[in-house]
Amino acid sequence: MPTLPQGHHLYLYCVNLDYFPSDYDDFISNCQRHGLLAEASANLGPNHYLIGDNFLQYVSFLGCSPYLKVYPEHADDTDYCSAYIPDKTQAVRFLANKQVTAPRCPTCKRSIQPEYNLVEAWQKDKNNSAIQCQYCNTTSTLYELDWRKNAGFFNFAIAISNIFPKEAIPSQDLLDWLQDISGYEWRYFYA
Ligand SMILES: [Zn+2]
Repeated sequence: MPTLPQGHHLYLYCVNLDYFPSDYDDFISNCQRHGLLAEASANLGPNHYLIGDNFLQYVSFLGCSPYLKVYPEHADDTDYCSAYIPDKTQAVRFLANKQVTAPRCPTCKRSIQPEYNLVEAWQKDKNNSAIQCQYCNTTSTLYELDWRKNAGFFNFAIAISNIFPKEAIPSQDLLDWLQDISGYEWRYFYA
């Protein structure tokens, strides 16, 4: 089981939880040609990549112009912005940051306030992911709820390190491009 990177990340993820690229190396090459990623980042181990030359066109940083460290300063340096993309499909996971609050119903957009911990119940029984909204009575899966970008369920994702919650926003063009190459919609959250 690959370990997840530590620290603050922007997760770009495919909403199809069964999706994995039919050719991983081809997916990476495509991201490199597009300028989202650069070469592998040996300091961080397998499946980590440096940020590509066009990264700042695809991800907008808010506030004053950021100092984005994109290269290691020495051989043991692991504290820089990079991307992690596992090369094998993994079980569906849930991650959240500290600002996570009650998720919104995808139909009526009101906050769902269940009497039990949705995520803990799902972790005990992953087949039991249905939730009924107490306001509009629509039944959704946990995966469809709107966690306001503070959490998400995902399988295949690009985890970009050293990005704090809502500090940087991926462009719709980038999400559309990822959809074009995968065939499925992509979304994002911070964790
Ligand atoms: Zn609802």
